[in-house]
Amino acid sequence: MKVDYCVFLDAGHGGLNAKGEYVTAPSKQFKHSRGDFHKDGWFYEGVWNRVLTYRVAQKLNQRGISNIVVSHEYLDISLQYRVDMANWYYDNYKKGIYISNHSNASSSHLARGFEIYTSRGVTNSDKIADIHWRNVNDIMGDRIRYRQDQSDGDHDREASFYVLTKTKMPAILIEHLFFDNYDDASLLMDDEVVERFAEAQARTVIQYFNTL
Ligand SMILES: [Zn+2]
Repeated sequence: MKVDYCVFLDAGHGGLNAKGEYVTAPSKQFKHSRGDFHKDGWFYEGVWNRVLTYRVAQKLNQRGISNIVVSHEYLDISLQYRVDMANWYYDNYKKGIYISNHSNASSSHLARGFEIYTSRGVTNSDKIADIHWRNVNDIMGDRIRYRQDQSDGDHDREASFYVLTKTKMPAILIEHLFFDNYDDASLLMDDEVVERFAEAQARTVIQYFNTL
């Protein structure tokens, strides 16, 4: 028996364990020279990814939209496990979307902005990315910067990330600003910014499912 639609939510990397230790790759954190962020100037990408992802799940639940969080509460569980889990549960639904939530970093720590990635070629993932790009623009306006690749006529960037190519359902990976840039990281710590990013995802899910 298949029931309607499900959203598979993936908070990138690992988070804080019960001892308060950040259990993920060292590159997924940054110590700013000023400000407090998550702890003593440290910004933990995986912690932020979870804050946003759980906010999205809460909104979807409130709107009666099935969703499954495929990332672990804090473990940096493998991408294969996350994707296998989504693909297994997807067999019980007619349609689905996979959304991987991240924040970016650059070697110069100067890069800023919002990006959406899809797999290469034109698929339903591009449709979701287009809808989401518009929603984020509507909801965030000029509060944030945007990075886009318009060489192929759309706003999303293309990459062969595991979660984009091995998922059975359309998938997008979102890089929410750059956590190693002080100004972007400060935006990410603003609860209203989190709320607006989450609201944009809820609207994107509804609009995409309405097109099917
Ligand atoms: Zn990431």
